[in-house]
Formats: sequence, C-alpha cells, structure tokens
Amino acid sequence: MIEQITYLVKRGYSLKGQGVMTIKPIQKGEIVSALNFDSIRSEGTETEMSVQGGIKDFIDNSNDTIDNYFNHSCNPNMRLRLSHHYDFQAIREIKVGEELTWNYLTTEYDLTKTKEDFFCRCGSRNCYGQIKGFKYLTKDQKLELWNHLSAFLKTKI
Ligand SMILES: [Zn+2]
Repeated sequence: MIEQITYLVKRGYSLKGQGVMTIKPIQKGEIVSALNFDSIRSEGTETEMSVQGGIKDFIDNSNDTIDNYFNHSCNPNMRLRLSHHYDFQAIREIKVGEELTWNYLTTEYDLTKTKEDFFCRCGSRNCYGQIKGFKYLTKDQKLELWNHLSAFLKTKI
C-alpha cells in the first residue's frame, strides 16, 4: 500500500449524488489520492466498488475511503493510474470548489456485464451519453483516451 497523501477534500452534492469537491487548488500532475484497495483478485468478478486492472483482474475497493466517492466525468480532472502506482493524479489544474472526477471508460472494459452501465449527466460538451465501457467506444474515441488508459485497455484498441 502506498502512502496516502492527504488533501483537504469534503463530500458534497453533485448532480450525480455524493461527490468530492476540493477545498484547495490542485496543480496538474499532483497526486490527489491513493487508490485505497483491499485486494486484487486475479480470477475475479466485477462489483460496483471494483475497478478493472486486467481481463479478469478486479481491484476491490469497498472500504469507505474518499476515493470511493470520485464520480465519473467525460471531461475529468484526474486519471486513475493502475500500474506501478495506484493513485488518482490531476491531469489539469483543479480549482477550489471543483468536483474531483475521472473517466471510468479509461479502466472499465464492459460495464454492461454487471449492469453497471449508466447514462452520464456530466454536462460536458464531449459527453459520451450512455457509459457502457471502453469496448463500446469508436476507434477514434479509444485513441483520444490513450494517455489516460490503463495498461490493460491499451491492449484492447
Ligand atoms: Zn458525460
């Protein structure tokens, strides 16, 4: 487990329910939070609180830590790193009061298998609408996400 770097965050309300807003500015490249996980299951199944590390690798993240409240956005301000580091990194400058978000499509291959696909209301101009998983994106959409993709999804283009 890597060391948790503490940022001042609070739980607030967003359009999607509970979310996390920053109460201090965050610079591009800063580590916002560790991914706090219980275990990595290499023959696992997906759950609502897991993230995907490989075709059958699911990282269980069911403990009640702040990173469980980071919502999806199609125009996120963080990325989730799943190799070498397990953490959320700011991919642009984040202002006070902004919700901390990442793009679930950069780690999740197929959310429909567990009926976790959902209709996104992030409000960004490039919103994907129905979020079903990386598998369902067009080739161009997949390539646009390249810099933030998990190593596993990079093998799926
Ligand atoms: Zn969206």
